[in-house]
Amino acid sequence: CHNGTPPMPWFGMDIGGTLTKLVYFEPKDVSDQGDTEQLETLRTIRKYLTGNVAYGQTGIRDVHLEMPDQHIGGKRGSLHFIRFPTNDMMRFIELARSKNFSKLAKAICATGGGAFKFESDFKEHVQLKLHKFDELDCLIKGINYIDRNNDKSECYYWKNPDNCEKCEKVTFDFRDPYPYLVVNIGSGVSILAVRSPDDYKRVSGTSLGGGTFLGLCCLLTGCETFEEAIQMASQGDSTKVDRLVKDIYGGDYTKFCLSGDAVASSFGHMNLKERRDIASRHDLAKATLVTITNNIGSIARMCAVTEKMERVVFVGNFLRVNTISMKLLAYAMEYWSGGSLKALFLEHEGYFGAMGCLLELMN
Ligand code: ADP
Repeated sequence: CHNGTPPMPWFGMDIGGTLTKLVYFEPKDVSDQGDTEQLETLRTIRKYLTGNVAYGQTGIRDVHLEMPDQHIGGKRGSLHFIRFPTNDMMRFIELARSKNFSKLAKAICATGGGAFKFESDFKEHVQLKLHKFDELDCLIKGINYIDRNNDKSECYYWKNPDNCEKCEKVTFDFRDPYPYLVVNIGSGVSILAVRSPDDYKRVSGTSLGGGTFLGLCCLLTGCETFEEAIQMASQGDSTKVDRLVKDIYGGDYTKFCLSGDAVASSFGHMNLKERRDIASRHDLAKATLVTITNNIGSIARMCAVTEKMERVVFVGNFLRVNTISMKLLAYAMEYWSGGSLKALFLEHEGYFGAMGCLLELMN
């Protein structure tokens, strides 16, 4: 360690069930400490990471999320946000080896289930020890840091979510956020009640999450990627697949204020051959997205009521390029709570765990 901070490079890594998220701190005022071989290696890594936006076949840097002018560990620099499929972890380990990573650091900070699963691979192939941190601790720390340190506004909500023309993204002042609920939609879903920076509990979860959407969508439509699944859903009509209240009642179910357009049974039309014949792949993709999203929204709403919280913050990579789900959640929260609940979203979506992990490195 130099001056009490860990040796460069500084990374936080969140190895999730589907995606591995990497936050890299690029220092702007580089000191000349350390031997020349180390400096050279450090430069190579920095140049590789900041000079590219794609790494190998599947690694991607989310350039639009980059945070310049950050102060971390007594240094000034930029935060970079990188992701790749966890399935490609062995290729990442190979890359770390080819860039001589172990010449610089003996350990890296990691969170997520993969920090446990891949621990022995890191040790064996790159002589790196993983300092493991709990993923939900990291998530909360990351939200706290990014929300406060993003010069561009981090938090937003959807105004008029049910109206195509009038719907708009509006920034939300999240400076005094407590208490709030966090709904982290990754491969699966975790729901946390947060009362202060270091007081939170995991209140619920569901295994029907982003992984379920993608898995079912691949099965039902033959699509191959998340982007393709979302693209398909955006052109589909879920009412060709779902059975609505009006399909059963011929109109509204007035006694209990259920609109005829509410879904009574997700995929409820698909038992009939003639209905299957007219449902397209796009319709199936949309119905899958709506089913998973509404189920999460419904569980989130119950948690908010139980925990007596009015702000519900949705994060996780399921919401990446997925305005359909965000608007559905926004509408569902407002509608089913009679306007008392607010659905909030954060720009850095799936990166909070990795960010919190990088902060742990500084402790
Ligand atoms: P985890 O930590 O469990 O991997 P994430 O928050 O990274 O969770 O979210 C994973 C989910 O994000 C996937 O299940 C999928 O629904 C969605 N997703 C968004 N972008 C991608 C992508 N490029 N590849 C795979 N899944 C993606």
